Amino acid sequence: MGRPVSRQDRILLMPLPAPTHLVPLDEILPDEPLLMMGAGPVPIPARVAMANSIVINHLGDTMSQIIEQVKFMSRYVFQTRSGHILGVAGPGSAAMEMAVVNIVEPRETVLCVCNGFFSNRLAEMAERVEGHVVRYPVREGQAASPEDIGQYLDRYRPGVLTIVQGETSNTVFNRYLPEICALARDHGCLVIVDAVCTLSTMALDMDDWGIDAVITGGQKGLSSIPGVSLVSFSDRAWHRITHRIDALQHWCLDALLADQFWNKKAYHYTAPVSGILALHEALRLICKETLPGRFRRHLRCSSALQAGIEAMGLSLFTSPEARLNSVVGINLPTGVESKTLLRLMSDAHRVEISGSFGLPIVRIGQMGEQSRAHNIFRTLHALGASMFALGVKVDIPAGVSALESTLDEYIFAPSNRPVTEKASHVG
Ligand SMILES: *Cc1c(COP(=O)(O)O)cnc(C)c1O
Repeated sequence: MGRPVSRQDRILLMPLPAPTHLVPLDEILPDEPLLMMGAGPVPIPARVAMANSIVINHLGDTMSQIIEQVKFMSRYVFQTRSGHILGVAGPGSAAMEMAVVNIVEPRETVLCVCNGFFSNRLAEMAERVEGHVVRYPVREGQAASPEDIGQYLDRYRPGVLTIVQGETSNTVFNRYLPEICALARDHGCLVIVDAVCTLSTMALDMDDWGIDAVITGGQKGLSSIPGVSLVSFSDRAWHRITHRIDALQHWCLDALLADQFWNKKAYHYTAPVSGILALHEALRLICKETLPGRFRRHLRCSSALQAGIEAMGLSLFTSPEARLNSVVGINLPTGVESKTLLRLMSDAHRVEISGSFGLPIVRIGQMGEQSRAHNIFRTLHALGASMFALGVKVDIPAGVSALESTLDEYIFAPSNRPVTEKASHVG
């Protein structure tokens, strides 16, 4: 009679995976990384990648100094004096949810400007916290109209308005955002803006336009890694947050708890230190380039890419008045399947672009590192050569030539082009 076998001594039930079933990462990943030219995530600069490989204590003096700098640089990037910039361990959607759940109170009317996938996501989030959501469905392919919004504001008297600056999903740019924010302000309505795709690629002046919450993610405009995002709240928004009497349903996303870490050097949850270090470097590179310089680079590269695509004989999805520069939508010629095209581009050319959620288009990103001349040449060639292989009559040399000459125009004749400090208002 041996002693009874304790639970700990028992042979494990799950067998150890056979080594032949475990493929090392370097055999899973392609030899040469794909050039990420889709709607995000985007390529990251080497400094960002390096920072992302470091783990440090999430509390203490070193981290405090880094957090202070992240906030300091964020104020420049968001164009705000706000003392309420918070990070969140999570995707852009977590930042969207952080803005919505902290600002929207149950049974309050929320006007959601809906012109695509992500603006509808904001509406869905507002509904989940029991907001009384009124949707303004913007006509497909058009920017939200301030006149329409004025009518909605008069009619429904919402306490909060949500809007996306650039709809990554269908490449629509809400160019009247400043006017819309001003209208909302006149109606005493708080404004939440999703700038995940656009921040640091085109103008967004949080304080000047009177925005109450700006949302961004890491992996798009900022060219950092996915998984660490930022939200900036105005004083008006913060006043509301600190005066709420109901207990928030969310714990991780509670702005007052997050404030403990981001402003009071205390513990909320273990901060995503590596991601914050990466974000620090991404923000530092933006400050080094300056916003006007960065806006010019994005405008120049995106305009050249668009010119190249059209000159090659393909057409763009969104008309120029509502076209987003940060993500370019290309109509699929009849007979070409998105999946086949994308597969060909990544297999034969090592360039990855995106399909879409239900629209007959493919999308090329122009966010952060994607907006570099060498990347757009390679992408345009990969797109043209793959289309050609699929039987589409494209003129690749004409496309490349238009790309080159448009890039040149922006260097040599800046006065003929809307490349002033406020360039991105126009583009
Ligand atoms: C990508 C994107 C999001 C969501 O970001 P995730 O990191 O995927 O959660 C939200 N809004 C816009 C405009 C986006 O482009």
